[in-house]
This record gives sequence, structure tokens and C-alpha cells, in this order.
Amino acid sequence: MERLTGLLRLPDDIISQILQYSPSYSTLLSTLLTTKSFYRVFQAHPNSILHAINFREIGPSYPLSLRRVRYMAPVLDCEDADRLLAQAVSTDVICDFPITREERKEMKEMEDKVTQLEDLFSFRYLDRTSVSSQLTPEESWRFRRALHHLTLYTCEFPTSRYPYIEENDRFTETEIQVQVRQENRRRITFLSDFSAEELLEISAVLFFLEELGVYVFSRTGLDGIRAIAIPAGPEILLACHYCISDHPIRQHVKDIEKIVAYHPFLESYIWTPLLEVLKQREFREETESDYFPWNFISNRIHQSDTQCHQCKDELGFDVWTRKTWTPLATRYRQSIYLPHRAYTITSVCLSMKDRLMLNGLESEYLRSAIGNFENDDYLTRILGDIYDYDLKLDAFADWDKDDLLCEDCFERFLTEHLHLWIRYNRSLEGEIAKDCPYGYRCKLQGRYDPTAGKASIRGFLKEHQESFNHLCAPIAQDTQDVALLIHEYSVANQVVIDLSSV
Ligand SMILES: [Zn+2]
Ligand SMILES: [Zn+2]
Repeated sequence: MERLTGLLRLPDDIISQILQYSPSYSTLLSTLLTTKSFYRVFQAHPNSILHAINFREIGPSYPLSLRRVRYMAPVLDCEDADRLLAQAVSTDVICDFPITREERKEMKEMEDKVTQLEDLFSFRYLDRTSVSSQLTPEESWRFRRALHHLTLYTCEFPTSRYPYIEENDRFTETEIQVQVRQENRRRITFLSDFSAEELLEISAVLFFLEELGVYVFSRTGLDGIRAIAIPAGPEILLACHYCISDHPIRQHVKDIEKIVAYHPFLESYIWTPLLEVLKQREFREETESDYFPWNFISNRIHQSDTQCHQCKDELGFDVWTRKTWTPLATRYRQSIYLPHRAYTITSVCLSMKDRLMLNGLESEYLRSAIGNFENDDYLTRILGDIYDYDLKLDAFADWDKDDLLCEDCFERFLTEHLHLWIRYNRSLEGEIAKDCPYGYRCKLQGRYDPTAGKASIRGFLKEHQESFNHLCAPIAQDTQDVALLIHEYSVANQVVIDLSSV
């Protein structure tokens, strides 16, 4: 049936198609408010139109995303719990039941985390120079599908499903083994719903997450916590990665210390049932030496660029190079724990060599010099200048700004050159004071107070820091006698220094 729609006469199905192509809910609303006939068509097919908009907004993993949200919903105190559960278990969730505002919000947050994990995957295995995913749409779809499937598994078999059992408490070893076997059978049944291709994708994502766990928890965390990381869920592991801490997982898993020490239900949490199902499907492992599990997501992955170009250490999930230092620094700034590599303005000041980091005058200079750079892009400016204006020390002659560097090498390069960059900038602004023989190791660097009077330690430090340049290597061989220097200063200025004023 055709209706009059303003100047156009369009059939209902065309109007429905037009509405489905609305870029957002708000555009849809504006369109509906303009024409009554559009509104009538919407009222006739609200869910198919809304689902189509969500599909475009959230991406191809929208049905999986919705399935996951609804899968978790019955856990909450939800009026429609039974109905939602029935839909969730069904693979066809694009159904008549409309999605709620909360579900959309939750899906967007979830997809955002999946994107962050995809970015990490791509950066780790495919392209070391880009912190955003370089996977093709098809590869991206495989990754996202696998991650959603894995998360569904962790929702079905959450850590809370297995309350901690005191070892040798209520059950004998044999009884526990029987229960573990029963649980594994339930897991096998769950995984049997997936195709072999989907299971292999899950295995690729598992390898990736396990490697991420090794990277995060090798620096921090309880022994054995990695075994809990997968059951806790990929998003918890992502949170641990951002703050380089096991805090998120500790918050998520009750009794974690005990669980880490003994938990038969979380051993072989997914690998045993997954491999069992693959065996049933008669899958054989590839034997080619250049074949990696990640190839189930992308066959463009080869194990190149795995070592730091300078120290040859294995590169992990952070690789510092011209294209990545600013986005990496910004990434970790989101963490409330602020690991060292956050490279905020304050932590850059603390990267100055030796005692220079205590030098109030130079810290203030650096802070104000880099504080006004656009988009917090000061690392590009500092490191770019060091390379472009040849400020590099001879020891770094073969270093290139396109080198792939591990965090330690990057930090070392920055620390060894930061004062040279400050010196270079100061020299553009005017003459530099004569070099202090003790250079950056000088003990007379400290808090800088421009108003300090002569008869105080601060006045003494102020005068020394203003009179001498410390942005240089030490040349003096002797040890600095601070007490003697203070005494000489007191005599020369005819003041008595109150040492308690330090
Ligand atoms: Zn290195
Ligand atoms: Zn000095």
C-alpha cells in the first residue's frame, strides 16, 4: 500500500528501508517527527528498524553483543528474566523483543572494550607501528566473534560458580575429580555448539589473552594469578593491563588468594574441553613452522619484529617508536595507578638524568616548555628534536627514531637526552650560565624558590642553581663537600645559615 509522504509517494517497505538507514536514534526521531506517515510505518515495524540502526551503530558483532547482554541479564534482578534467558540461549536474538536503553549503553561499552582488545591484538601481532587495529573487516569480525564467544563461555562458567572448597575438607580427592569431570562434560556440551572454525578462532584469542596475562602479571600480581585471568573474563584482564596491577581481578574474584593456591575447577578451565571438542571434529594441528595460532584470525601474521632493535629483548605489548610513543603514553594516563610509563608532564620531569630530577629550576622550565604543546604531543616534539637536530650522544649514534624499542630502551634514551633537549631550547633563548663541574650529579640541586632570602638553605640553592648550568655531564673527579660549600657561602655573604630551614 502506498501513502502520501510530503511530495513523494513511497511504498511502506521503502519508507521502512529509509528509516533503517538512520545513522542514529536521534536522527530517526527527527525523521519521525517530520512526517506522520513515516511515524505510522515505524509503529508497524519498530523492532526491525531499531535493530537495523543498532547493527550499523555497533557493528557486525551486534547480535553477539546483544546475546551476551541478555545472557548476563537474568543474573540481575530482572522482571523478564525467563524470557530474556530463553532468547539469549537462542542464537537468533534479533527477535521481536525490543532492546532497552540500558542494553544499548551496555553493548556500546562492551564493544568499546572489544575494540581496545582488538587494537592490542593487532599491535602485538600485525603492525607494531599502529596502536589502532589494522585488521581487515573480515579479520576484525573473526576476532570480535571469538572474543564474544569466549566471554559467553566465561558468563556460563563464571568463577562465582565455583565457591572455594577447602582442600580435603568436604570432598575426597576422588569426589572432586568426579565433579570436575562432570563440569568438563557441561563445558564440552556448551562448546559443541560452535563450529570448528569458531573454536579455532577462540583458541587464537586465548593464546593472545594468555600472553597478555604473562605480560601484565610478570611485573605484579600473585603467583598463579594468570590461571584465574581467563575465567575472570577478557575485560578484567584488559583493566589489569591498563593499570599494570592485579587490583581489578582481586576486586572481581572472591577469595582470590585461596583460589590461586587450590582450585581444581579452574585448572584447564577452557583448554581441556576446547581441545576435546576439536578432537571430536578431527582437527589436526598444523605442523608448518611459520604457522601461528593467531593465523586463525589473520593469515597475514608472521613472527617478525619480535625483538627490540637495540637490546634484542623480546618485545611485549608496548613498543615505543615514532608513531606510538604519544598514543602509548596517553593510554596509560587513564589509569588511576599511573605506572611510570604514563609519561605525564610530571613523570617526564622525573625522567631527567641523575639529580637533575630534583633541580627545581630545570623542572619548572621543562614543565612550562612542554605544557603548551597541542594534544599532549610533547614526546614527539622532544624526541623529534633530539633526532632532527642531532642532539644524540655518540653512544646512541646508530639509534633511529623508527627503531622499535622496548620500554627500558625508550626510557633510557629519553633519560640520557632530556637535559640536552632542555639545554638546546635554553640556548635558543639566550646565553647559558657556565657549567657546574659536578653537572647533573651536583648535590646542590633542589627545590627552587625565587623569593628565598640569602640567609637560608633555599637562598643558597637558588644562588647556585642560577649561577651554574647543570644540563651537562660532570667533569669534577672529587666528591662534593656540601658542608664546606655552605660554610664558604656563609662567609662570603656574611650570613648565618639556619640548617633547620631545609
Ligand atoms: Zn630494548
Ligand atoms: Zn652545581
